[in-house]
This record gives sequence, C-alpha cells and structure tokens, in this order.
Amino acid sequence: MKGPAPADRSSPVPEPRSGRLTVTALRRATSTRMWGGKGCGAPCDYCRVTVSPSDIEYEVEAQLDGKPLTLHFHTRCHDAWRTECEATGTGASA
Ligand SMILES: [Zn+2]
Repeated sequence: MKGPAPADRSSPVPEPRSGRLTVTALRRATSTRMWGGKGCGAPCDYCRVTVSPSDIEYEVEAQLDGKPLTLHFHTRCHDAWRTECEATGTGASA
C-alpha cells in the first residue's frame, strides 16, 4: 500500500487561543466604539455562545492594555458586561 491515509491530520491548525479573554480581562477593557448588527457567527465574548444570525449582535471596539480588540456580545451579555464594568470600575470620574 502506498499513499497517505486520508485520515492523516498532521498539518498544524492555528487556534485562536490567545484571542480568548478571561472575565477579568473583559472587565478591564474599555469600549471605544460599538454598533449593533446581525450575528455573524462569532462567539460571544461574554458567554462564549455563538451569536446566531437571527440574534442581534453588539460589536464593540475596545482597548485592553493599550491594544485594540474587537468584542462580540449578545445584547443581554453586553448589558451584563457594562453592568460588571461599572460595578468593578475604578471610580473614574469622567
Ligand atoms: Zn452572550
């Protein structure tokens, strides 16, 4: 027999592991811009559940440790995130 088996999956697949934010990191992120739209299949950064196209997705442009990042939320998760950010806020007086 010759030829590689089709089940061979030795090719490395890059995983977006570094893109996963912890809840603590999420709370430290500050949103700079946000807009709503239909879910594009990206997972919610709050509950980790994919935002389905039939759901409204909030896309948030944020800064974390000086680096820009894009977050995706369900509407309810965005509300919860904002509430947590305010609850754990550093008392910044805008
Ligand atoms: Zn969510």
